[in-house]
Amino acid sequence: MSGKHWAPGTQCVAKHDHTKPKAQELAFHKGDLITIIEAVEGKGWYRAKHNDTGEEGLLAASALRERGAIRVNPKLSLMPWFHGKISGVQAVQELQPPEDGLFLVRESIRHPGDYVLCVSFAKEVIHYRVIYEENTLSIDNEQRFYNLIDMIEHYMKEQGAICTKLVKPKPKSGMKSAEDELAKAGWLLNLQHLTLGDRIGQGEFGDVLQGEYMGQKVAVKNIKCDVTAQAFLAETAAMTKVRHKNLVRLLGVILHNGLYIVMEFMSKGNLVNFLRTRGRAVIQTRQLLQFSLDVAQGMDYLESKKLVHRDLAARNILISEENVAKVSDFGLARVNPKGTDTTLLPVKWSAPEALKHNKFSSKSDVWSYGILLWEVFSFGRAPYPKLSLKEVTEMLEQGYRMEAPEDCPATVYMLMRSCWELEPGKRPSFKKLTEKLQKELKHLGDV
Ligand code: ADP
Ligand code: MG
Repeated sequence: MSGKHWAPGTQCVAKHDHTKPKAQELAFHKGDLITIIEAVEGKGWYRAKHNDTGEEGLLAASALRERGAIRVNPKLSLMPWFHGKISGVQAVQELQPPEDGLFLVRESIRHPGDYVLCVSFAKEVIHYRVIYEENTLSIDNEQRFYNLIDMIEHYMKEQGAICTKLVKPKPKSGMKSAEDELAKAGWLLNLQHLTLGDRIGQGEFGDVLQGEYMGQKVAVKNIKCDVTAQAFLAETAAMTKVRHKNLVRLLGVILHNGLYIVMEFMSKGNLVNFLRTRGRAVIQTRQLLQFSLDVAQGMDYLESKKLVHRDLAARNILISEENVAKVSDFGLARVNPKGTDTTLLPVKWSAPEALKHNKFSSKSDVWSYGILLWEVFSFGRAPYPKLSLKEVTEMLEQGYRMEAPEDCPATVYMLMRSCWELEPGKRPSFKKLTEKLQKELKHLGDV
């Protein structure tokens, strides 16, 4: 008996090589990514698909382990070769013993804002000044790059104007290569399998593109800024830890053009647009309740994992082809400078204690959920219409709360109001909200 029960779609990593498969068996190498299709009747075998070759076949569960979560690790770096402000002499010491193509990048001390690429070649260390001009970086004034990651990626593929192709990064002491760690854990996808299509959205951190990854429709968020990409990485942990039908699933990341975040594709876009473009005439109360329940269930799961969203709002809920609502952007919430700079908080969605004392919790998420309920039942209107941010803050303190949206069921409005209790402890949990909404849906079915 095998103790493993993997659901279809589970991502696994091969524990060893299996290069001489019998008929119907799948061939793979240690470290390959494999997707479970289904369990085979009997003892611990699965039908599965190889993520790189696309082949399908049988394999024993004992050959696999489930893809693990990435642990938050400040030492994980997208730029392990970046040594910061060290002198040329120190750089030379770091690149000992000599090895052709061993390299690092340091900040120029003499020319603040510029960088220096230091490369070991023919027993010498050569220093190339990287000039920062007009928002781009360049060594030869011809090839220009938006950030250091792109530059290094380029010179690892092409020698260009420098003495040798870059071969081996010299990591700053204590730093771990994010690329290696992501690959080991099974979260690094292969750029060759990705086809990019139209732009489907614009996020704060960069464009969102439609795409295809090995036959599956995907959405790809491209974070170009290396600092943001690095910050995101520290939070990848949140997204690699979760898996739930009401959370937009992270398929993996690709280190290219900064960072590509590859997610499941949600064909009907965000909830605000969905509601606004269809409206009262088309969408029934049952559907509104179902969306609300979907979100509550996703949030209940996040709460159970002790994850706080911080930016729960209808704009961050996405709708699938089958009309399932899923919560997105949870890993990004903390990367967001909004999290630390209270002047940038989404004021109309934020709980008073979050605004005033920066106190975020599942209970402040519940407050935001109340606002989301209001958005849903008003078919995508912006909350507190006609009130300025300042007015909202003041009036909330005096006990003011939004009125019920037109035709909103009384029970649903009561739920909103319970989410807007000033005292966080008095607000319901997401579990409670889930139960109430289920009851409401059932009630609707009975009449
Ligand atoms: P940000 O939070 O950085 O502003 P979002 O993640 O909200 O960016 O993405 C912006 C828009 O891109 C969304 O409103 C949605 O329309 C679209 N989008 C984002 N992720 C997906 C996805 N997985 N599937 C389909 N569309 C998406
Ligand atoms: Mg968003």
